Amino acid sequence: MLAYTYRKQGEFTLQNKPEPVLTHAGDAVVRVTMSSICTSDLHIKHGSVPRAVPGITVGHEMVGVVEQVGSAVKTVKPGDRVAVNVETFCGHCFFCQHGFVNNCTDPNGGWALGCRIDGGQAEYVRVPYADQGLTVIPDRVSDRQALFAGDVLATGYWAARISEIQQGDTVLILGAGPTGICTMLCAMLHHPHRIIICDPDPARLRFVREHYPDVLTITPEHAQEFVQLNSPHGGADVVCEVAGSDDSFRLAWECARPNAIVSIVALYDKPQTLPLPDMYGKNLTFKTGGVDGCDTAEILRLIENGQLDTTPLITHIFPLNEIEAAYDLFEKRRDGVMKVAITPPEK
Ligand SMILES: [Zn+2]
Ligand SMILES: [Zn+2]
Repeated sequence: MLAYTYRKQGEFTLQNKPEPVLTHAGDAVVRVTMSSICTSDLHIKHGSVPRAVPGITVGHEMVGVVEQVGSAVKTVKPGDRVAVNVETFCGHCFFCQHGFVNNCTDPNGGWALGCRIDGGQAEYVRVPYADQGLTVIPDRVSDRQALFAGDVLATGYWAARISEIQQGDTVLILGAGPTGICTMLCAMLHHPHRIIICDPDPARLRFVREHYPDVLTITPEHAQEFVQLNSPHGGADVVCEVAGSDDSFRLAWECARPNAIVSIVALYDKPQTLPLPDMYGKNLTFKTGGVDGCDTAEILRLIENGQLDTTPLITHIFPLNEIEAAYDLFEKRRDGVMKVAITPPEK
């Protein structure tokens, strides 16, 4: 089968590999019907994910059809359409039991697919702990609708959940890329009074204005003043920091009102400064990332009910055999690209 493979720093190649087989009783093998490219894939390519293992198939955002299951798998069966979770988790340890699946103590837990084990930019993928890693997609939900449920949308859902958004709040989201927009869509589920989204890229702000006209947009250099003007208490009640750029952490707490919650969803390249003397008396609550991706069933239910729709984010579609062109487009952010969907190879 074709599999897009991490060869070494700076090099991914499309190569032929044997189809995956079941190796544990909890495994499932899934035929991938649609996958996507994530910014984290680019981080692997550029060597900023030290745990990534050369030779693995990349890709951790996908949906497909179950082909085979191991003897211990209970929740899915061959023929089921499923969303694949980015995180592998055991479901039994202390952290899993409390919903903190990102901190699963299983040695194979965490972000394994497409990083430490073969992922889904391929024709087939083996998913360990399939009872936790796979969620059946409701019949009325298409692959396109479900594509992001296990990764960027899971992140947005989690970010909005931990941010404790109250009805009537002003919510500021820093970053209008795919994860920022998923966070925005999930923030809407909590009925805030107003959402402001901030990004330096005019194309991304235009995308937001076109699709979500009720959301206010602003660039970082004017954000603090704009947020003050558009919130009744001198700053945002909730800030979700999804940008992860050099100045966005500072901007996040500066734009927050006293006693606000500031959620850090972003993954930074460098350490960030927490200047406690400057924020003394502001009484902020900080919450920090990574995603606990254990809400896929609820996310799919919201999609089925028409309360969540990420299909506008799919701006381009390529077959697997043309995935190199898809990466080139995504990486260089050409042609207004938000997300690229990868379909099975055209033979
Ligand atoms: Zn991702
Ligand atoms: Zn666990």
